Amino acid sequence: MARGKRILFLGPISSGKDTQSVLLVKKYHLPMISMGNLLREQIARKTLLGKKVSPYLKSGSLVPDNLVLAIVKNRFRKKDCAKGFILDGFPRDLVQAEFFKKITELNYVFELKLKDKEVFRRIGGRRVCLCGMTYHLEFNPPKKKDICDRCGKKLFIRSDDKVRVVKKRLEVYKKTIKPLIYFYQKQKIYYVINGNQSIEKIHQDIVNHIK
Ligand code: AMP
Repeated sequence: MARGKRILFLGPISSGKDTQSVLLVKKYHLPMISMGNLLREQIARKTLLGKKVSPYLKSGSLVPDNLVLAIVKNRFRKKDCAKGFILDGFPRDLVQAEFFKKITELNYVFELKLKDKEVFRRIGGRRVCLCGMTYHLEFNPPKKKDICDRCGKKLFIRSDDKVRVVKKRLEVYKKTIKPLIYFYQKQKIYYVINGNQSIEKIHQDIVNHIK
């Protein structure tokens, strides 16, 4: 299945991974796979898996690898992944990365770098939609207040965007990211992007690396 552009975004919460993924989806016509969204969808549908993963999302800790990998196996079997994909939030640790490498090889890993101070500044304005779209009241507002441009549903604040949970998520990110970066550096597919720039500039910096 190793064809096309297989892109992964890394970066702390609110670094712009969703926004940049959506821009690449439009440019390259690839499916976007967000592990956070897949997990939230399970919770919203009240599935057995959703019930199991819900406490982890509420507290900001990582969902155990076996549960995440169960979702991944199904998702990558779908036909739309055959020509490439854009990943956000998976692989998130070394176990997941090693597992995923057996399914397919990534060819671009972009880390959007952002300082903690900026993370907290941004998080207050974030609004999301169940369809997977993410907005920011200041930097990337929807056309109509509180309404999703794509599907017309009402936007909401994610429950794990609370300060206490954000702190925990940042802590988890810092702990798990280093071995992952090293893993992709060795494969020469890892690129650092300054996340503290305009959406357009970040997009350009990313696209400049993609052949
Ligand atoms: P995100 O929307 O990517 O910030 O993810 C929200 C939450 O979903 C995280 O704080 C974790 O609890 C969980 N999560 C998302 N992706 C993963 C993953 N690959 N492995 C484990 N937990 C995950």
